Amino acid sequence: DQNLGSELGHIVCIGAGYVGGPTCSVIAFKCPHIQVTIVDLNQARIDAWNDPEFNLPIYEPGLVDVVKACRGRNLFFSTEVDKGIAEADLIFVSVNTPTKKSGLGAGFAADLNYIELATRRIAEVSTSSKIVVEKSTVPCRTAESMRTILEANAKPGCNFDILSNPEFLAEGTAIEDLFAPDRVLIGSLQTASGKSACESLANVYANWIPRDRILSVGLWSSELSKLAANAMLAQRISSVNALSAVCEATGANIDEVAYAIGKDSRLGSKFLKASVGFGGSCFQKDILNLVYLCESLHLPAVAKYWHAVVEMNEHQKDRFSKKVVDTMFNTITGKKIAVLGFAFKKDTGDTRESAAITLVNHFRAERAHVSIYDPEVTESTIMLDLTNYGEIPAESVQKNVKVAKTAEDACYGSNAVVIATEWDEFKTLDWQKIYDSMDKPAFVFDGRLILDREALIKIGFKVTTIGTGAL
Ligand code: NAD
Repeated sequence: DQNLGSELGHIVCIGAGYVGGPTCSVIAFKCPHIQVTIVDLNQARIDAWNDPEFNLPIYEPGLVDVVKACRGRNLFFSTEVDKGIAEADLIFVSVNTPTKKSGLGAGFAADLNYIELATRRIAEVSTSSKIVVEKSTVPCRTAESMRTILEANAKPGCNFDILSNPEFLAEGTAIEDLFAPDRVLIGSLQTASGKSACESLANVYANWIPRDRILSVGLWSSELSKLAANAMLAQRISSVNALSAVCEATGANIDEVAYAIGKDSRLGSKFLKASVGFGGSCFQKDILNLVYLCESLHLPAVAKYWHAVVEMNEHQKDRFSKKVVDTMFNTITGKKIAVLGFAFKKDTGDTRESAAITLVNHFRAERAHVSIYDPEVTESTIMLDLTNYGEIPAESVQKNVKVAKTAEDACYGSNAVVIATEWDEFKTLDWQKIYDSMDKPAFVFDGRLILDREALIKIGFKVTTIGTGAL
């Protein structure tokens, strides 16, 4: 079983983002006999992947070690997209597929412009047959559109097999997830050539993943499974968050309820942590994508069902923000609120759709002063997010938002501390020292249920946690 997949001597990945970068770096790491080139149009991003000091464009525990082991050996990062395509035997398409911001279906439909542009480039540049793999998360039957585009523009003698190979890694644990995935899913057409392409890709993964975890299914099942998996994960969070509101009103404790529910082997204990709401670039986008698909298929009741997961998430963020204001005597005007954490979850610097953005905007709207600290998010990223990528004048944001260098600095002189991201380091802060430095009464709002509530109350804090009512 040595050197499996060597018929694919050269793999190219279009898109050097959160998915393409780690995924294909791990393939290079695990398959020294395969050359892997990751290409992107974004010069700054590629420069960062090639940075001599390994200041990579994304933060993922363990990623630097993987890249250090194989960059320049069989892993290359480049902006030469056409050259990469021309040389490849297999091409991963790992470009962004955001929710449409304008036009028909805006706010729901996936923007497939980047997929189409990349697909057209593949057809135009290829002078030999290739396997083209959808790595991006896409609406069901996108592979069909890609095939039509490829076939309509192919040079004579070039055949394209299309596979769907959605990525299930979670940011923050990407390398761990890629080293030992629960499963790898490969969808193909059930033709001889489709099955053979599927086998070639399966052989690459089989260099380090047990065969029984590599699943082959039909193309459309594979595409839909990715949307379904994210919808069901997000649904668990919205369900537990919906229950957190009931806990607050009854005196039940959501951690205890989740513990009790999770012991049921039919349900399991993962993804039952109540919080201020889910974020990240995928959950909301993929559910909206599913909702749009259902609407297009004239399944309004099904669309409504999944849409409720997103609505619940919005409600949770609003409910938490309102709770902060209510608890602080119904006004936060002129008060200083420290927001600890800005990334959408711990162990990542990614802030896309982070709940923290909504919270800070709510606090700003109530004319509070906000000081933010996150160990992995830079001041410029925070400002970009809060100015909505430059649509709101920076001066108006800077008037009431500061970014601090440490958690203690963010909390100094504040009236309240809000935990927005579950970074481990927040658990071990010197909370007595922070309390001493704050205005009194000093409030803590734990939006992630990570702090020791009893210990904080003992220090003197007024503590509000999601899913815990008065006893
Ligand atoms: P990203 O925005 O970080 O990366 C996409 C990259 O593609 C960008 O750097 C962009 O410059 C590049 N690109 C776009 N069009 C290009 C073209 N024509 N030629 C070359 N480069 C091009 O996005 P991401 O987070 O890596 O997500 C990529 C896909 O993977 C999305 O469909 C997403 O839904 C899916 N996905 C994401 C995650 C996640 O955790 N982020 C997990 C699973 C699946």
